[in-house]
Amino acid sequence: MNQFEIALTAVGWALFIAGVSSWIWSRIRRSRDAAEAAGDACRAAFEQSPNGILMADVETLRIVDANLALQRTLGFSLDELLRLDLSQVFADDSENSEALLRKLRDPNPRVPFQIRQRSKDGSLLNVEIRGHRLDLATHQVLVFTTDDVTVRRKVEAQLLEKQQHLDHLAHHDQLTGLPNRLYLAAHLPGAIEEARRTASNLAVLFLDLDRFKHINDSRGHETGDKLLKAVAQRIRATVRTEDVVVRMGGDEFIVILNTVRSSGQVNETAARINEALSEPVPVDGRPLVTTVSIGVSLYPRDGADMGELLRHSDTAMYQAKDRGRNNFQLFSPGMDRKLKERMAIETSLRNALQREQLTVHYQPIIDIETNRVVALESLLRWKLPGQGFIPPDKFIAVAEETGLIVPVGELVLRRACEDVARWRQNGCTPVPIAVNISAVQLQRADLPATIQKLTKLHGVRPSMLQLELTESAVFERREGRTGESNEDAVSRLRELGVRIAIDDFGTGYSSLSYLKRWRVDYIKIDRSFVRDLVTDVSDLAIVSAIIAMARHLNIQVVAEGIEGWQQLEKLRQLGCGLAQGFLLAKPVPEDQCQRYLTGASLDLAAEQEHPLSDFGATTGNHLRAANT
Ligand code: C2E
Ligand code: MG
Ligand code: MG
Repeated sequence: MNQFEIALTAVGWALFIAGVSSWIWSRIRRSRDAAEAAGDACRAAFEQSPNGILMADVETLRIVDANLALQRTLGFSLDELLRLDLSQVFADDSENSEALLRKLRDPNPRVPFQIRQRSKDGSLLNVEIRGHRLDLATHQVLVFTTDDVTVRRKVEAQLLEKQQHLDHLAHHDQLTGLPNRLYLAAHLPGAIEEARRTASNLAVLFLDLDRFKHINDSRGHETGDKLLKAVAQRIRATVRTEDVVVRMGGDEFIVILNTVRSSGQVNETAARINEALSEPVPVDGRPLVTTVSIGVSLYPRDGADMGELLRHSDTAMYQAKDRGRNNFQLFSPGMDRKLKERMAIETSLRNALQREQLTVHYQPIIDIETNRVVALESLLRWKLPGQGFIPPDKFIAVAEETGLIVPVGELVLRRACEDVARWRQNGCTPVPIAVNISAVQLQRADLPATIQKLTKLHGVRPSMLQLELTESAVFERREGRTGESNEDAVSRLRELGVRIAIDDFGTGYSSLSYLKRWRVDYIKIDRSFVRDLVTDVSDLAIVSAIIAMARHLNIQVVAEGIEGWQQLEKLRQLGCGLAQGFLLAKPVPEDQCQRYLTGASLDLAAEQEHPLSDFGATTGNHLRAANT
């Protein structure tokens, strides 16, 4: 290698070393810059943290640094703070400052604690601090972050207030302002627990307004709402301040009487509520009357928990409705049994309707002089497969209460039309069918329209139907759902050509003037007067008076429930035209009716051969079986 080449190599190496070292320097500078930048960022975070941060020497507890937030809240400058120690800025309620200093010297970083922070002006501020020891290269410092809880408490208090407002809204009824169902669910278990603890009684009163729906429907919801508000106020004003009045919804209210001393006290309160609501309530300047039915259950006698007490007061309330409304009833275990039985019947009856287990039997009505069948009365039978029949007395009342009587009644009418049409097709001589109609059917169904539809469908004249109504169904001045009175509904039925009979006559109003006005076609003297006709002179007097009166008004008379020849003879003597009873002919299924439809006189002796009852062995157990 010549000198030139050596010089060139040396320059190359020099350049290389210079490049590498400059690269190394730039790296060193860059990392130093980065460290510096990180340090700056930490500092800035420390300075600008919204929470106060304070550093102190572990040994002396002297403050060595503090951020701006802390300086601001305390009112000290950093220089002033650096001249103080922790015991001058932190204080707690205890007298023992040593304990506080120990706590400050050895803080648990995971457990914050409440402390007072002393400002420059001497005022104390509640703060929450959290501390830890920080290892530095040469020594340790204590770092505290502080959090102003006064602001947080204020926010928490505002939130709590908002929450309470929401809770109030959720637990109170908007219309009446009374506590609602949710409130009751939250309150009642506690009240029961309190009664248990203090061995005292508590009463639950279940209130349901009578016929409120009618007012609501006829006067409009606005009036209904105003009435509810006024009623709520009245109930509230009638009970003590410590008693709770709850609106359950609709027209139902609950009153909880705490610390009841005697059942007399409950009776008194319930009677007072009944009385208070019997007074008309002025709504829009007009007096409205809405009475209330009340059911009462008592803790501990009638139930151990909320569910049981509410259920039993509800049951008692229904009893109050049954007893004519505007009264109160105390719960008794018998009511519960009755209700359960009723519910079982309702469920079974619904099933029976769907499964076509309801059928109709027919019992002839006979002309006493000629022994000819003049009509057949349709009698509802509930047939349980493989078992007997359930008599109507066992389920008609439930069907009426639940409204099931409407579809059930329509089924009976349909069967009557179908059977008349079938008998005619089979060459028989059909007679009119007497169909029992419940008052509920008159009120809830458009009976004239139903009859028109069914008779047309089966090609049967409406005059082939005789409707048997009880006196109360016809004469009670009630308006049905359609707003039509019973009287108007019956008039429309008559216009169709349907005959009207008053069933069980003598057991209700038995008013002559009504009979005259209504122009009924038949009256059926109730079995209870016929039974002892031969032996009881007053029954004889009643029956003969009814017959005489009916003759005068041109109304035909049917005597019901004839079981003996002497009764029949007596009725003939009195001039009773028509008769019905086991002696003459028993109720039979549709397919055994042919012998009644020949137009010829009935052979009464032959009728005696038939079994006494068409029910078979029927017991209440069947209902339970049907329900399973
Ligand atoms: P009701 O309309 O007075 O019917 C006459 C009842 O007396 C029938 O009882 C019949 O079987 C019974 N009976 C007839 N002759 C005699 C007799 O000589 N002695 C005795 N002890 N009883 C006799 P049933 O079938 O048990 O019906 C009872 C009541 O149920 C009926 O009394 C009627 O009010 C009602 N009912 C029957 N079917 C229907 C129906 O389809 N709809 C409605 N709403 N009620 C019905
Ligand atoms: Mg009848
Ligand atoms: Mg009758």
